[in-house]
Amino acid sequence: MKKTKIVATVGPATSSKSVLSSIIKQGVNVIRVNFSHGSHDEHQQVIDRVRAINKEKGIHTAILADLQGPKIRIGNVIGGKMEVKKGQKITFTTKDEDPKDQHTLYISYPSFPKDVKKGEKILIDDGKLGLEIISTDRKDKVEAKMLNPGVISSKKGVNLPNTKISLPSLTEKDRKDLDFALENDVEWIGLSFVRNARDIIELKHLIHKQNRNSRVIAKIEKPEAIDNITEIIDKTDGIMVARGDLGVEIPMEKVPLLQKELVNKCLKASKPVIIATQMMESMINNISPTRAEVNDVANAVLDGADAVMLSAETSVGKYPIKVIQAMTKIIKQIEETEQIYHHEFPPELNEERFISDSICYNACRLSQRTETKAIVSMTHSGYTAQKLSSFRPKANIYAFTGNHALLNKLSLVWGVQGFYYDKYVSTDHTIADIKYLLKKHGHLKSKDLIINIASMPINEKGQSNMIKLSYVD
Ligand code: PEP
Repeated sequence: MKKTKIVATVGPATSSKSVLSSIIKQGVNVIRVNFSHGSHDEHQQVIDRVRAINKEKGIHTAILADLQGPKIRIGNVIGGKMEVKKGQKITFTTKDEDPKDQHTLYISYPSFPKDVKKGEKILIDDGKLGLEIISTDRKDKVEAKMLNPGVISSKKGVNLPNTKISLPSLTEKDRKDLDFALENDVEWIGLSFVRNARDIIELKHLIHKQNRNSRVIAKIEKPEAIDNITEIIDKTDGIMVARGDLGVEIPMEKVPLLQKELVNKCLKASKPVIIATQMMESMINNISPTRAEVNDVANAVLDGADAVMLSAETSVGKYPIKVIQAMTKIIKQIEETEQIYHHEFPPELNEERFISDSICYNACRLSQRTETKAIVSMTHSGYTAQKLSSFRPKANIYAFTGNHALLNKLSLVWGVQGFYYDKYVSTDHTIADIKYLLKKHGHLKSKDLIINIASMPINEKGQSNMIKLSYVD
């Protein structure tokens, strides 16, 4: 079993049950349904198929429903595309959705003329085209000039890296998509273009209002999110380093170091972090990745990411199964190096969960010294499993829980394998029973040294407060 998880975006190339089943078998742990594309009917079929595969195979693949957020786009261009020259003036309008000349573009952001200032940048089509704002009428028109020549096509995305965008974090479309995701009780909900912790609080409020317990992934792709990262990590359940938009909104050469910083912050906070976008891009069309892509995936694993993500490679690519096989191979190879294991973040004395955090920390240290095969724990909210994972032990983390919904959620978390268990007789009985089950199912064998952590007394389901080191009979 590899420890670093794979998130695969589903699309026409992967939505059939047989391909879904194959990519899951080859190493996918989380299926991402992207609300920027496809209909609810199509997403429903994917969710139903993944749930059916989970049931048939007794596995716990998670669903990540990714909300589009306040994505800004231009409208239609006459003839589908137009050539532009450096220095050419373009008028952006918020009124006319179908401008009739080649100098005017519609922009899907009603208060754009009010929010922008002279000198700010407009980037179109992942930054391939740049413009500088010359003037705004503060009503419905903005004048800008092209900074480079190129071709502008209909409906391309717009990034405004310098502008304080006043759009709400959840659009009308996001609210409908959220309702759909919550009706399906998905495990993880991704929020695009997060700007501050309030965006997360608002989304969580909507989730809890519907009595759901889906967890939130904050997609980090705006400079404002970087400025507010401590509060965002504090409120969210995990993050995605969404390098596509991030590399447009900030200079792309800043992304590699930022990736390392964000991974580190999440490790310290024991919250999962996904590295996303263009990891195996060339495999959309090719049978094998470039050497640079192999390095990119390897470096994400070395950085300590919980998961690496595929987008177009699996949604519309020609070789979705091969791409997972290639990614799994890279991950497994890198996981052979000692370098990725044994992170030392000793818990601080005044922390609210000091006892269980210390138990997890010391269980991982003991496991390193004694080279145990596994660290086994009960987990009720997933906290203990995530905490153990954040110390990146080399031993397998087997998390037992009586909370069915949690098992799928844990599929995103580095190194954690979840099992259902709902008996709470006594600590001694549970430890013996779990050992027996792990041996019976081939996860452990006689004479394996393992660590159990537990909360005593066990039926109070409190914080972990006990470590036991023992051999399997
Ligand atoms: C990204 O920008 O890197 C990203 C993952 O976002 P999306 O695919 O939703 O545009």
